[in-house]
Amino acid sequence: RHRKGVTVIGLGPMGQAMAGAFLKQGYEVTVWNRTLSKADKLAAQGALKATTAEEALAANPLAILSLTDYDAMYAIRESAQGSLNGKVIVNLSSDTPAKARQTAAWLAGYGAVLLAGGVQVPPSGIGTPGSSTFYSGPISVFEAHKETLNVLTSTDYRGEDPGLAMLYYQMQMVIFWTSMLSYLQALALANAHGITAEQYLAYAKENILSLPNFIEFYTPRLDAGEHPGDVDRLAMGTASVEHVVHTFEDAGLDPSLPAAVLGLFRQGMEKGHAADSFTSLIEIMKQPMA
Ligand code: NDP
Repeated sequence: RHRKGVTVIGLGPMGQAMAGAFLKQGYEVTVWNRTLSKADKLAAQGALKATTAEEALAANPLAILSLTDYDAMYAIRESAQGSLNGKVIVNLSSDTPAKARQTAAWLAGYGAVLLAGGVQVPPSGIGTPGSSTFYSGPISVFEAHKETLNVLTSTDYRGEDPGLAMLYYQMQMVIFWTSMLSYLQALALANAHGITAEQYLAYAKENILSLPNFIEFYTPRLDAGEHPGDVDRLAMGTASVEHVVHTFEDAGLDPSLPAAVLGLFRQGMEKGHAADSFTSLIEIMKQPMA
């Protein structure tokens, strides 16, 4: 039986899960990691352990990179650039869209093609249904290797611009981190009043689960650039966030997250949006950085 081959470079928790998923699907997997001992477990499961990045790249037409960030890739370039010609580099390290674009150009100089990927699940989600990764880069290259990439997660191709996978990834990250921190902020207030995370859980979930309805309601208005104050008004929202900030201050807690939100509401008020919806704040967010 002809076995498909794939190279995995970078064996942190993510790279290990990825190499493991390929092995499980019967791929011939060549692995390399700066700290070589991290390849031992995979070698015991049948992976081929390369001793240099160059050797790992040479083994297969496609290499998955799972490093801390794009800079880590440049850190191993000395030993790798000799075997880049003709290769497809699927970089699943997270970074900025600009870094992905620079890297696509850099790799092109060595005759290699970049597919940038933004993985949206933790290592436990690799090789399991329901997980997804954003991809961007040349469509023909993506299509040619889609089957292999689908071993890891389902694939969501965003477009030719190599920066797009990272752009979508970072769009999701800003929602993830600010939402999770808003949860922690609420929990700090709960804890200050003797309410446990367990006791708060049902309420936190109910609140977060209501958000899709709001997003859907405001979507056509946002795309039309319209912020009518028919269902909510910025002045009302500002008073609401002021109460939130005061509640934290009354409890002797640092209101840093709601205070930042209040700062945006106040800017909107100063810009004359008092009678508009809070969605008018997007006009402030869209202003170029001073
Ligand atoms: P780790 O940071 O644990 O893995 C880092 C890997 O990069 C290791 O193999 C490490 O080698 C290597 N590395 C780092 N710096 C260098 C360097 N200068 N030279 C050579 N190798 C280097 O990350 P994860 O495995 O958790 O994640 C990998 C990528 O996947 C990251 O970009 C992360 O953002 C992304 N991701 C991770 C998720 C997660 O839940 N873990 C979820 C979604 C995306 P060594 O072993 O020698 O240190």
